[in-house]
Amino acid sequence: MDPTTKINIPESTRERIVIIGGGFGGLQLARKLTRKDLYQVVLIDKNNYHQFQPLFYQVAMAGLEPSSIVFPFRKLFQGKKNIFIRVTEVTSIDPIKKTLQTPLGFCNYDHVIIATGADTNFFGNENIAKYALPMKSVSEALYLRNNILDDYEDALTTPDYDPRQELVDIVIVGGGPTGVELAGSLAEMKKHILPKDYPELNIEEEVDIYLVQSGGELLKGFSAESSEKALKYLEDMGVKVLLNSRVTDFDGNLVHFNDGRSIPTQKVIWAAGIKGMPVDGLPETSVTYGNRLAVDRFGRVKDTENIYAVGDVAYMEEPNWPKGHPQVAQVAMQMGSNLARNFTNRIKGKEEVLFTYNDKGSMATVGRARAVVDVPKPKFQFGGFFAWLLWLLVHLFAILGTRNKVFVFINWVVNYINYNQSLRLIIKPKIKEL
Ligand SMILES: Cc1cc2nc3c(=O)[nH]c(=O)nc-3n(C[C@H](O)[C@H](O)[C@H](O)COP(=O)(O)OP(=O)(O)OC[C@H]3O[C@@H](n4cnc5c(N)ncnc54)[C@H](O)[C@@H]3O)c2cc1C
Repeated sequence: MDPTTKINIPESTRERIVIIGGGFGGLQLARKLTRKDLYQVVLIDKNNYHQFQPLFYQVAMAGLEPSSIVFPFRKLFQGKKNIFIRVTEVTSIDPIKKTLQTPLGFCNYDHVIIATGADTNFFGNENIAKYALPMKSVSEALYLRNNILDDYEDALTTPDYDPRQELVDIVIVGGGPTGVELAGSLAEMKKHILPKDYPELNIEEEVDIYLVQSGGELLKGFSAESSEKALKYLEDMGVKVLLNSRVTDFDGNLVHFNDGRSIPTQKVIWAAGIKGMPVDGLPETSVTYGNRLAVDRFGRVKDTENIYAVGDVAYMEEPNWPKGHPQVAQVAMQMGSNLARNFTNRIKGKEEVLFTYNDKGSMATVGRARAVVDVPKPKFQFGGFFAWLLWLLVHLFAILGTRNKVFVFINWVVNYINYNQSLRLIIKPKIKEL
């Protein structure tokens, strides 16, 4: 492969739209654009599949197979003639030459959409970045699963109390939906699975699950009632929730807090923040809060031409969202849809439409039969079993592919009946020695 050559994509009489990233935003855009044969669409992603991030935590907790929450792009676009998929990483953009650079070569564009999402933000702490476990990809979720299971195996052959504590205790940093969902799931694992799998360990006495949140409430951005309910659910399940606490350092064995305390553990799961992942080559003035790309209400990146951004990497202000939108799947998908509509309108000579976010509400689950839901219009909040049922339904419908829906549904039913996920396998890739 020669990065100085052009990537092999047929030239077309139609304008070329290149989408970087097939996540929630990029994929929505690609699916809408390929319904009409108005443009040549090129989708570039470093993976050959779309990932359903909201269920990563279930992969990490051995509740779902990774293959149930990912979907191959090529299967999704089978039969579509106006899309070309290339599996590679875009390393930079040249806005003057209108080209993108990848290890496979360069690719020219008429319009490019940056839909690269966000990455874990360790806020510049190199130790935390080195030792903590993030969960921003299905491979990281799988790594986490292996790590947790490996450590329980090691604990069996660690007779001394202190080093065993490091193996069995888990600290989750970040009290947003991901942290809350992980903590709830781990608490259930501690109660229902670990005592059966590891009867030699004193699970009840020795295993502690900590959830650390820098602010005074969980689920920031949710209603006060939902935050309080989530806290109560977790505490009832035995999770040690540390509010107003900040992790300052982690050396792989000991996690340190701003008040001078420390907890021995080898596992710190980092769900405390994300930052946008813009591609190199854009003007400095295009990058704004949270390392996101400043876009106008049409999704155009500030101080550029024919370059757009959607989803987590885009920062857009609108009257109802003066500090930008939440970095969630609905925003990304709606931005993708609006941009697709505007590209179609452009060809048809119609006016482009300003983006307006339609907030459908927020939800988080805290384990079996416990969840919280905030509905914005009419404004109300509810929790408990029906909130959990709604959470299940919404997520089931959102997963791509009938096979995935069926597999996830069957897994959930089995887990609900017997509390016993059967995927507690430590499967690691074999590294070939050359
Ligand atoms: C653990 C977790 C749980 C979550 N739970 C929820 C939830 O319950 N509800 C909710 O609404 N949201 C949830 N979110 C947030 C939601 O997943 C994101 O808001 C959403 O994925 C953003 O979509 P996106 O298209 O901007 O980016 P993504 O979906 O992240 O997709 C980005 C894509 O770009 C590709 N890519 C990145 N850089 C490059 C490059 N340089 N070259 C080529 N390809 C590239 C990636 O491979 C990826 O496919 C969760 C996120 C996480 C991590």
